[in-house]
Amino acid sequence: MDQGLLIVLSGPSGTGKGTVCKVLMEKRSDIALSISCTTRKPRVDEKEGVHYFFISEQEFNALIEKEAFFEYANVYDNYYGTPKSFVRSKLSEGKDVLLEIDVQGALNAKKAFPDGVYIFLVPPSIEELECRIRSRGTEKEEQIQKRLSKASGEMKLVDEYDYIIVNDRVDKVVKSIENIIEAEKLKVSRNRENFEYLRSDDQA
Ligand code: 5GP
Repeated sequence: MDQGLLIVLSGPSGTGKGTVCKVLMEKRSDIALSISCTTRKPRVDEKEGVHYFFISEQEFNALIEKEAFFEYANVYDNYYGTPKSFVRSKLSEGKDVLLEIDVQGALNAKKAFPDGVYIFLVPPSIEELECRIRSRGTEKEEQIQKRLSKASGEMKLVDEYDYIIVNDRVDKVVKSIENIIEAEKLKVSRNRENFEYLRSDDQA
């Protein structure tokens, strides 16, 4: 059986990764969404095991020790990590797996798993990003400035990714991701093993 495709949706904080991910998952029940562990406290509308697995820093450290994370990162003073067992087992069952993670985590994941598809979601402009972060109303001025300067730095890492999508309309972004998935699955490099006549001489 073919291995599933690992799809990593990443980008600076405030670009709308969460919304895109939600709409994509509503449309595509064939994709498995990885639920991360975090040391952040749950927000009012968040449920254990649905949005995250909420754990203590001690528990998180124990999982790092056990090498239980596919990738992990510290994002604004909280730890976030992707459980390795879920990702590995779904991929080997042939299921596509979606990760919605920060830029640092995506770069770590790429080192460990270069065969994934790494998608960079960006805002239409830095001004638009500032508007979005402000309209959330959850951050103080100092935090807003911190997020904006971090976002500018992260934008420079675009070359580490395979694809870039501007988030100007969620439905358009979702369609682009679906197109990327379809095209990736048609790549010769992902199909060689399925066709005897495509195998190179040394494999034949
Ligand atoms: P939030 O606290 O707003 O849910 O997420 C904060 C940031 O952490 C977002 O950029 C989100 O994509 C990222 N994030 C969520 N889960 C993970 C994870 O497992 N690994 C990494 N590296 N980042 C994550």
